[in-house]
Formats: sequence, structure tokens, C-alpha cells
Amino acid sequence: MQGTYDIIIIGAGVTGAMIARFLARYNLKILWIEKAVDVCTGATAANSALIHGGYDTVPGTLKAEMNTKANPMWDQLAEELHFGFERCGTYVVAVGEEERTLLEELHLRGEANNIPTEIISGAEMRAREPNITSKTSGALYCSVGGICDPWGATLAAAENAVMNGVELKLNTEFLDFIWESGSAAQRAAVGGRRSIIGVKTNQGDFYGRWVINAAGLYADEVMHKADVRPEFKITARRGEYYVMDRAKVQINNVLFPVPTKVSKGILVTTTLHGNTLVGPNAQEINDKTDAAVTSGGMQEIWEGAQKLVPRLNQRDIIAVFAGLRPGGNAPCADPSIAYHKDFIIEIPEGVNGLVNLGGIESPGLTAAPAIAVRVTELLQEAGEALPEKPDWNPVRPARPIFRHLSHAEQAALVARDPRYGRVICRCETVTEGEIVAEIHAPIPATTYDAIKRRTWLGTGRCLGGFDMPRVVEILARELETSPLEISKKGQGSEFLTRLTKEVITC
Ligand SMILES: Cc1cc2nc3c(=O)[nH]c(=O)nc-3n(C[C@H](O)[C@H](O)[C@H](O)COP(=O)(O)OP(=O)(O)OC[C@H]3O[C@@H](n4cnc5c(N)ncnc54)[C@H](O)[C@@H]3O)c2cc1C
Repeated sequence: MQGTYDIIIIGAGVTGAMIARFLARYNLKILWIEKAVDVCTGATAANSALIHGGYDTVPGTLKAEMNTKANPMWDQLAEELHFGFERCGTYVVAVGEEERTLLEELHLRGEANNIPTEIISGAEMRAREPNITSKTSGALYCSVGGICDPWGATLAAAENAVMNGVELKLNTEFLDFIWESGSAAQRAAVGGRRSIIGVKTNQGDFYGRWVINAAGLYADEVMHKADVRPEFKITARRGEYYVMDRAKVQINNVLFPVPTKVSKGILVTTTLHGNTLVGPNAQEINDKTDAAVTSGGMQEIWEGAQKLVPRLNQRDIIAVFAGLRPGGNAPCADPSIAYHKDFIIEIPEGVNGLVNLGGIESPGLTAAPAIAVRVTELLQEAGEALPEKPDWNPVRPARPIFRHLSHAEQAALVARDPRYGRVICRCETVTEGEIVAEIHAPIPATTYDAIKRRTWLGTGRCLGGFDMPRVVEILARELETSPLEISKKGQGSEFLTRLTKEVITC
């Protein structure tokens, strides 16, 4: 036996991170396990980064409730945790007169969800977004929608949880539950329910009174180990993207097309970092690990994007990527809309000690803080007293971001620590000081991608071509290991295979 906890959380995407952060407020011993080498490597790492207004979720669903409750929480979260968030508003753009009537439908759904929206004319839309198609006939504006840095938000919530006492174990894969042994008579005494008392992992057994399933794409496999919802299946729904260079064809807003029955459509959106993001499409695939982009998919998203912004130019594309939505098959109020299958957030029948989540696809990023609050409420309803820690600190202090500072502030920082004067990533102006700070942070960055998620290094035009050898060197030096051990994203992705020269020391 490795340890005994009140709560064990499985999965360190945005859902697990927000749950860990909100539960860290209470006097609980919490273990948080993640099979990957870092937090934020699943669906949370590759998405559209939107904080949805919530006008288009089907009223009466958990998705609608969680979206509506979570959206207003993001201002305070960003302020306390110091990550990028901007409540810039979003637009659904109608092209041609026929699509304009669909805006009215969305407006009514917004009213049913209590989300304010406004229909503006085509001329007004063109004034707000000069590069938009001349064929636009109007748009639905939702002022409460926004954009965020999903990596920053997840890492900041995770770090705050760890600073408040949550024990995070990376490279730790849930394999199975540990059940309380007991006779049929003992089980009958608790209403026939079986009791989970811990988890088996690749790092040993851990005991806990509650286990929270926040395993994203694999949440179905986790719940099936507890014989919960055997009919529930998660299928990966792949979404592909283009990242466009900054300020070539300036896009100032979040632009959706009118939605279809299977997806919210291919959007063209600005990002917090000034790049334009184009995508995603929606492909149901069988392989939960296949995040490769396809030529057919890329063609599809390009055509979709051109419908909204015909002036986009393929010469400005600097990167492509794909994310996998953990779409489940839990039915919702309107079964005709495929992307509106509902979230599962429950303490299931027949099992003690499990808080079960599933199908946390879009708007899962937006909804994550409200899901965390709902999980807390479920625990309270199940009899947990949840006394507050007197010393809980909601604030995760910011670390210096060199490119955001004034010249005077940069000079003062360099005078204090010359490592902030050495720029390692030239496209994004990320300094050695920032990299070193992340390697020694409460959740240490130990791979190239971990540094990238924390600093945005390697996301510019050269995609890391210039910084990669320097980052490998810095990681090896700070972690006191061989450069041969340094990887892009964990074991099997090491950059270097052997020394090319004898190292001569004199
Ligand atoms: C293309 C795309 C676009 C999207 N756009 C938006 C958007 O704009 N706005 C929005 O609100 N939402 C959006 N979403 C949805 C959002 O990204 C997800 O709902 C959210 O990130 C899900 O977070 P999660 O923590 O539940 O899952 P994940 O981020 O996938 O995290 C689950 C974690 O569990 C770990 N895990 C799995 N199995 C085990 C195990 N056995 N043991 C230990 N750990 C395990 C995984 O490694 C992973 O780290 C989008 C999703 C995609 C793919």
C-alpha cells in the first residue's frame, strides 16, 4: 500500500485541474494521477480556446447548465490564477439571405439559456471585421463569449492546487479499482452497493475514500472498470486546424459560421497571441490516439474558412494540428443534434466512492470550473462535510513574461537576473530566465513541450527550429541529466540518440 487519501482524481486535463483546484480549498488529502509526463496533454492541449457564451447549447442539458454557470467564472479565475483570458465577444456569421433566418433560431435558443445575444446587420459586421466576406447578411453577436490560453489556464489551476497541498503524480496510469471485500450481508447493509476503496496504477496501489473519473477520452474505460454505464462509449471526434501568421490578413474577432447538425462549424478566430486559428472540422474516428492531420481534412477546413474570410492566404500558414474531442453517446434533450450529446456528472447507482464524469467534449473547457463546483456539491450531498482550510490561497502568483514588460521593466529584470537578457525563442521572445523558472516551478517542466505549453516558446514561424537545441541544453543543465535524456514529450521522443563527438575535458 502506497498511501491513503480522502480523494483520488484521475486525469490532469482542464477538468481534473479545476476539480483539484476547487477541492484544494477543503481539508482533504488529495492524490491526483495523470498517465502522461505532464498536465494538459489530452483534449485540453488542442482546441479552439474559446470560452463559449452558451447560447447554442440545448436548454435543459447539463452542457447548457455547466456552460451558463461557468462562463461568468472566468474573469475571477483569470485574475486569481494569472492566465490569459479576454472577454472579446463572438460572432455567428450568416452568409447569404438563407442563413440569416438561422440566426433568429440561435437567438431564441440563447434566450432560453438566458444568454444575451444580438443580431447585427451585414454592414455592421463588415465594419467590425473588415476582412469578412462581402456576402455576409448579418451576424449573431454574443458579448459574453471570449478567448483564453487553455494551456495557461490548466497549468495555473494545477499549480494552485499543488501549492494548496494536492499531491500530483505524473507518469501514473490508472489500471483498475480496488474494492472493499465483504460478504453479501455486509453489502446488503449499504443497499447492495459495492464500495471502491482505491486504485491500482502502474506505480502501485493507492487507497482513497473517493475516486473522481476525469480521464477525458478514456473516461468510458475507467467507468467500465467499475461496471458503470457499460453502454456508454466515447468516440474520438477529430478536429483539424491551421495556425496562420500574425497580422497578415488581420482578424479581430471570433467568427463562427452558422452551425450544422454535426458541429459548430469551421471558425476563423483571433487568438490571445495574435495568430489566426482556422478550424476545426469533425471526423469520427476509431483510434483514440490518432491526432494526425489529413489532406482531405485540411482541404475541408480551408474551404470552410474561405467562406467567411476569402482573403486568407495559404502562404501565411505556419502550423497545422489536430485535437480529439472526447465525445460520448449520452443522449440529450434534442437527439437530432449530434454534437449535443450530454455530459455525465454523477455519483452512479450501485457503487460507493466514485464521482463519474464522461463525454466532456465542447464546451468542456468553458464548463470546467462549473463542473468542479458540481463535483464539490455531489460530494457534499453524499455526506462529506468539506471543512475549509484556514490557509487556502486562491492566488497563483504570476511569473514574469518578458515580452509583456515595458523596456524599463525588462531592464530591471535583466539587472536582477541576467538570464532574462538571453532570448532563446526569437519568434516569441522567450528568455532563458523564463525557461529556468518553469523547470523549477511547483509543477516542474521536464520536456520541450512542457516548456512550450508554459511559455509559448516554439509556437512562432520557425516552430522551434532555432530554440530547440538551446532548450535541450538548458533542460539537461537544470535537471542535471544527460542531453540524451531530454525529450519532446516523454519517453520515446528523445531528441538525441548518441554523442557525435568525444567530449574532451581538460
Ligand atoms: C477540436 C476541439 C475543439 C474544442 N474547442 C473547444 C472550445 O473552443 N471551447 C470549449 O469550451 N471546449 C472546446 N473543446 C472541448 C475541450 O477541449 C474539452 O472538453 C476539454 O479539454 C476536456 O478536458 P478533460 O480534462 O475532460 O479531458 P483531457 O484534456 O483529455 O484530460 C484527460 C486526462 O486524463 C488522462 N488519462 C486518461 N486515462 C488515464 C488513466 N488511465 N490514468 C491516468 N490518467 C489518464 C489523460 O492523459 C488526459 O491528460 C474542444 C475540443 C476539441 C478536441
